[in-house]
Amino acid sequence: MVTGAASGWVKVIGLGPGDEACVTPDARAALDAASDIVGYGPYVSRVALRSGQTAHATDNRVERDRAAHALDMAASGKRVAVVSSGDAGVFAMAATVYEVLEEDLDRWATVDVHVIPGLTAMTAVAARVGAPLGHDFCAISLSDNLKPWDLILKRVALAAEGDFVMSFYNPIAKARPWQLGEVFTKLRALLPSETPVVFATAVSRADERVEVVSLKDAAPEMADMRTLVMVGSRNTRVVTRPDGTRFVYTPRKVAAQDLEEAS
Ligand code: SAH
Repeated sequence: MVTGAASGWVKVIGLGPGDEACVTPDARAALDAASDIVGYGPYVSRVALRSGQTAHATDNRVERDRAAHALDMAASGKRVAVVSSGDAGVFAMAATVYEVLEEDLDRWATVDVHVIPGLTAMTAVAARVGAPLGHDFCAISLSDNLKPWDLILKRVALAAEGDFVMSFYNPIAKARPWQLGEVFTKLRALLPSETPVVFATAVSRADERVEVVSLKDAAPEMADMRTLVMVGSRNTRVVTRPDGTRFVYTPRKVAAQDLEEAS
């Protein structure tokens, strides 16, 4: 029997927030099975290559080209790992791979595409400070590279109105220096000034830094591009234990009166 060339695969893999221990066994197995590793340079360099593997590190701005390249390599029989930090499906490469795939379904008809989940920054940060995501929450990227700034501000305002805990990914960058300040200004008009705000930078890495302040004291300088900013709901609490350490949590129960106070 004559068989065609083995069809390859693409696995879009989340590497977690930084620490090796946060890479799931599933992600590790998929990385080991890959012939080619594709991704943004700093993420690719987190993967220890075994012999026979080829790394394709690219710039951050070429996500669509990277996805097409990965799919093309897989169509020629390669086993391609596309790597992202955190969870690959959260503000990362998995959606780009599917977007590019949708644009030419026939071209890559034989390619298997899977996403291997990872530990996203939001849950890693939550665990560091306690349990701030114990009740309803949302995640918003503050990057206006791919969506209008007015839409971001509108979503932030509606999330405050809905009393969600908010996780801000991509809070600030050299090219976007003022946006986070504008978000804080907006939130100060909508939420109590004592609302807790967590600034968590490079969580699970050697230079991890976590600060908890009140909304009135939150300043954009506390964040950089490796920071996740989490803003509490009206129910989120900061509690000091007898030894002086603090934890942040959002109770699981919300009373009807909380909704009235929020509106
Ligand atoms: N796919 C990633 C998010 C990519 S967007 C995930 O699921 O985590 C990049 C943003 O993620 C950063 O600007 C920052 O807001 C957040 N982030 C990623 N790694 C982080 C870490 N170790 N500590 C804190 N925030 C992190």
